[in-house]
Amino acid sequence: MLLFMKTILAAFGLSDLPLTTPVLEIDGKETSLPDHSGPVAGLPGLTVRYEAKQQPGSAFLRYRFTVSAEQGYRFLLTKTRGTEGITYGTLTLPEQGTLTEVRFSEFDERIHSYRMVERPVGRRWDGQQLMGPLLAWEAADQSQSWVWAYEHGSQTPDAFLAFRPQGKKQINLEAVKGNTCRDQVLDADHPFVSVYFQLGRVAGGLNQLRQAYRRFLLRGQTSNQATRQPHLFYNTWNFQERNATWYGKKYLDSMNQARMLAEIDVAAQLGVEVFVLDVGWFLKAGDWEVNRERFPDGLEAVRAKLRGFGMKLGLWFNPTAVAVTSRLAKQSPETRVTWKGDLPGPWKIWETEESFNHCLVSGYEDLFAKRLIELNRELGVTYFKWDAVGQYGCDSPLHHHGDERHTSAERADAYAYGLPLALARVADLVAEACPGALCDFDVTEDKRAVGLGFLASGKYFLINNGPYHSSFDDKLVNGGGMGANVLAFPGPARPRFLRTPLDYDTWIPSTLFLSHYLAEGSQGSQIANLASMFLGQNGVWGDLLALTNEGIAFWGEAVRRYKIVREAITQAFPERTGDPGSSPEIVEKLDPETGCGLISLFSSMAVPVTYVTRHRVKDAGWALGPVTVERLADGCARLTFSPGEENPDGVFGRIGVEAALVLFGTAEE
Ligand SMILES: [Zn+2]
Repeated sequence: MLLFMKTILAAFGLSDLPLTTPVLEIDGKETSLPDHSGPVAGLPGLTVRYEAKQQPGSAFLRYRFTVSAEQGYRFLLTKTRGTEGITYGTLTLPEQGTLTEVRFSEFDERIHSYRMVERPVGRRWDGQQLMGPLLAWEAADQSQSWVWAYEHGSQTPDAFLAFRPQGKKQINLEAVKGNTCRDQVLDADHPFVSVYFQLGRVAGGLNQLRQAYRRFLLRGQTSNQATRQPHLFYNTWNFQERNATWYGKKYLDSMNQARMLAEIDVAAQLGVEVFVLDVGWFLKAGDWEVNRERFPDGLEAVRAKLRGFGMKLGLWFNPTAVAVTSRLAKQSPETRVTWKGDLPGPWKIWETEESFNHCLVSGYEDLFAKRLIELNRELGVTYFKWDAVGQYGCDSPLHHHGDERHTSAERADAYAYGLPLALARVADLVAEACPGALCDFDVTEDKRAVGLGFLASGKYFLINNGPYHSSFDDKLVNGGGMGANVLAFPGPARPRFLRTPLDYDTWIPSTLFLSHYLAEGSQGSQIANLASMFLGQNGVWGDLLALTNEGIAFWGEAVRRYKIVREAITQAFPERTGDPGSSPEIVEKLDPETGCGLISLFSSMAVPVTYVTRHRVKDAGWALGPVTVERLADGCARLTFSPGEENPDGVFGRIGVEAALVLFGTAEE
């Protein structure tokens, strides 16, 4: 058996991991790639190149391979054996240990959000397809554990790559669909480039592995550290939605200079650092120029005010939308999507001009990247929010995802496989040209490309309002919420739902999953929202101009304190007691080295609870809500949380309100 990339694995101390080289079906023959970069034996003119990336000191590496033909040679990637023709590797498991599949793209309709699910893989695994994208193995004596994962994105169980156990001891990582098109040409101009894979090992059991892997995703997966910063974001969408669904106005009525300048004043006092104009700032999708009727000076005044507060500008985009009369539509008509023989559309992009969708695997994505980079130069925008990109969407034979030799379904799968890679490439181009800029992929709806792939280049926008009435089979669509949305109100319910996908935080830092919290409501509601938001999702939502001065000052002071220790909170592994909704639900995020960080406490019972921190704390703590702190002789702290029964935001006399938080390490000299 050949050891995969022998020299690289040896350099990373992983040479004893029994991982084979990739096997590709080329010209009808199964071909094992060599264990080092160079010519492929038996196929003159064909070479493979392995690349690996690793942060100094990290136990994890990212690797990929490129197969390419020399000038004048031509091969075909065939699928003659009823399979997809690619096995990315085969790993032989050590004798004693347990295997866990970790899924990052389960869509849970109860919360209308993606979430993380760990599934122990039993002994009778033969024949199962494990989508992952991460497999974790833990030795029976917990002396070591390791990870094997791939960087792509799709909703479970719609796999594009998957792990497939073979017999009792071996696991293949295989292409499932769309990775190549049948008889795809491999020549000097068309190499095959794999996705990135991740491999790593730590001393210790599964919990040590989670902690080390989480650090790797925070600091080692991407060179664009702007994506990992725990900045505080505000987005204008919630008030736009209220206008349309509560106040009988239009979504875009509030998208104008006067309202935005007033909102920026409030956002600054709330501690917001990135101010995001959602849909409506532009005249035409595709051209993405400022709407001068709404902003006569082309956002000059907005930018000047943001600069004055040291805030950054964010803007909304639909990466596929190109308005019918835009310059881009004329320039690039051939990149319009087709679907089952039709040219679908056009559709209204909210209340702006009708647009057609263009294909992100056609070369159009480079035009989109170019426009974003220009906008960084023209407007200083550094945060690009991408909305409304479904996994499926184009089956054209004229683009870069199959041709007339393939069926419509094959081309659609190849598009869906290529989509997250294309989005990541656009984000990389933007980050490279605009240091400090980042792209955010909205996955607030299902059938979006969620996985480890985009996280190497950007972050996710996870939840805006959570479930809809339809999520609960409730036919009263306008039954009081935000149009179709249920969780549009202050109080403890909304943050309880938004905290549910924080289960990601045990593998993927929560700062990569932007979700928005309401700053309005009673002080009790504010504390419940702050205690949740500080756990890492860091988004502010709601009607900023409806906030009271007292409410603004209260929120702003908490955020000011939070910022002193947010780096420690971001890095800290979450120690959770109780699920969201439990009484009590307590989350500790303390840096074990410095004792800085946060404890968030929630309960719906007016019964006192004590909690002793698992880590030592730096100081006596700064508390909000009904909690007292006592430092213990060993350096830890005992918290006494005494929830009351008041819930001024609640309905039908429900309690369930109380929350508290304690920040450690914010003492000011
Ligand atoms: Zn296409």
